[in-house]
Amino acid sequence: MIYHDVIVVGSGLAGQRAALEAINNDVDVAIISKLKPMNSHSVLAQGGINIAIDDLDQNNYFEDTIKGSDYLADQDSVEILVNNSKHEIEFIENIERIFDRNNDGEYSPKKFGGAITPRTLRASDSTGFSILNILYDQLLNSKVKIYEDYQVLKLITNDEQISGFIGLNYNSTNSNCIELFSCKSLVLATGPSGYVFSNTTNSSSCTGDGIALAVSAGAKLKDMEFIQFHPTSLVGSNILITEAARAKGAYLLNSDGERFMKNYAPEQLELAPRDIISRSMIKEIIEGRSFSDLNEPYLHLSFTHFEPEFIKNNFNDIQIVSREFANTDITKHNLKIVPAQHYFMGGISINNSAESNVKGLFAAGECACVSVHGANRLGGNSLLECIVFGQIAGRSAAIFSKNSHKIFITDEDSHISKFNKELSECFTNSSNNNILYISSLRNDMRSIMTTYAGIIRDENNINLGLMKIHNLKNLIHSNQFKSKSSHPNISEISEFFELSFMIELSEIILLSALNRKESRGAHFRSDYSSRNDNDWLKHIIIQKINSTYDISYSPVRITTLNPDVRNY
Ligand SMILES: Cc1cc2nc3c(=O)[nH]c(=O)nc-3n(C[C@H](O)[C@H](O)[C@H](O)COP(=O)(O)OP(=O)(O)OC[C@H]3O[C@@H](n4cnc5c(N)ncnc54)[C@H](O)[C@@H]3O)c2cc1C
Repeated sequence: MIYHDVIVVGSGLAGQRAALEAINNDVDVAIISKLKPMNSHSVLAQGGINIAIDDLDQNNYFEDTIKGSDYLADQDSVEILVNNSKHEIEFIENIERIFDRNNDGEYSPKKFGGAITPRTLRASDSTGFSILNILYDQLLNSKVKIYEDYQVLKLITNDEQISGFIGLNYNSTNSNCIELFSCKSLVLATGPSGYVFSNTTNSSSCTGDGIALAVSAGAKLKDMEFIQFHPTSLVGSNILITEAARAKGAYLLNSDGERFMKNYAPEQLELAPRDIISRSMIKEIIEGRSFSDLNEPYLHLSFTHFEPEFIKNNFNDIQIVSREFANTDITKHNLKIVPAQHYFMGGISINNSAESNVKGLFAAGECACVSVHGANRLGGNSLLECIVFGQIAGRSAAIFSKNSHKIFITDEDSHISKFNKELSECFTNSSNNNILYISSLRNDMRSIMTTYAGIIRDENNINLGLMKIHNLKNLIHSNQFKSKSSHPNISEISEFFELSFMIELSEIILLSALNRKESRGAHFRSDYSSRNDNDWLKHIIIQKINSTYDISYSPVRITTLNPDVRNY
């Protein structure tokens, strides 16, 4: 059995920041990841990262984030995010100056959606990659042990405290691929869950593993109904066109050639928060002001009002992506775009020390919910959350491990053989009528979620979605998946767990969406179309107790800013 004091699951921005902080606290630290660290999803973040530019901006940034969250974010947590932004950006910049600067050598931030002043720093078009690259270099030069190509399949607890987990070693032989790890504290930093939806900017690795692992270990989840849909993805492929495009002046147009955002957000126009823009786009589509010559209706993102030279200097990456993936020259033609699932505001419920309710279990990054984004995240706030709360999680996990005794997982062999036996029972290499194919169930699940848990929801549709997801869940429990041999191989095991995780998440998202009978931020219910602070200024908490989901509520922590009308 492999032992480390602190194990961080996930080698993206949050995980690497957590591991680097933990190792500075004189404990034995490992990081384990199903992807190679520099393939983590954080590398895709092009847009930028937010910082409170100066003391005055600290308050503006706080207020923008709370208003952007539709007043659901916990204000003491947002204070931590904002107040630590300068320190964490300096941590990066002290290693290497990567952020764009003006001729005077000062930061040249951009104004992103929902912000009243420019505060989004960019490292050219590769902010996420550049930050992760710096951290990875530090990690390679540290004593942190890195296990890459390992997927965590199940957490192990003793007396409601984390003691370890079962992992799948991708580089092993089929018969020895299941391994046992033990630790005193565990940080889950497993990133996004967007592959639950068929229309997503997330890649196929974003299967919500950490959230599903945590809920099965007794952890509480929070805000799971709040799913962000980004306004601008390429029609068909859902490749993201970064918000930086609109920050630098690109327009959204409907089929009448009108900048329709003036009807929804007269002041901020294309720089309103994402929930408002995506919903406005759906309204334009429903009311027939979209284009309909393709399989799905779409709208336009326009750069044609810029000089070609300006486009070349400012939108180089977008120009390349548009040419290669949409066959469009943006100097001459508009881009065809649709909203697509992009980000989970909800996740593993943690406090301001990044602790979950399970002893020894911590979380950070997109799989966690502290909650700084509430019902809608502002662009640039996720990367910042990853490093601010990644650092906090690493420190908390290290302190916890120093103050606690090692819990021994006894009988390693029987743990593994029991797990292998249960696994084998889920697969068969024989052919019969009840055989299941992972890819087919996965496709069904993803289209169910896109249809029933999208931008506009109502009770009937959510219930229909739930019924269909329950059918898939029952199938998994009563039938067997097709395997190439008598025991499943590594990729079959990996995909089986990812599918199970996503089906669990789908059910939880729909349950939360059904429960919240109001519209707030990214959660819009056509049958309860207004925000209702009297009844719903609270978080929905979900916990799995004896295989059923218990729903409870926690109040929103308000320090200074009372809920107000949200005009842009
Ligand atoms: C296209 C795109 C652009 C974006 N642009 C921006 C932006 O400009 N600014 C911004 O603030 N936000 C942006 N976001 C959001 C932001 O990038 C992510 O929320 C953030 O990077 C997530 O970081 P993370 O560390 O939580 O997860 P990730 O970077 O995804 O890392 C997750 C890690 O967990 C590991 N893992 C997962 N499951 C397991 C398992 N079972 N076992 C072992 N390891 C596991 C993976 O291998 C990976 O290393 C963007 C998102 C997308 C999709």
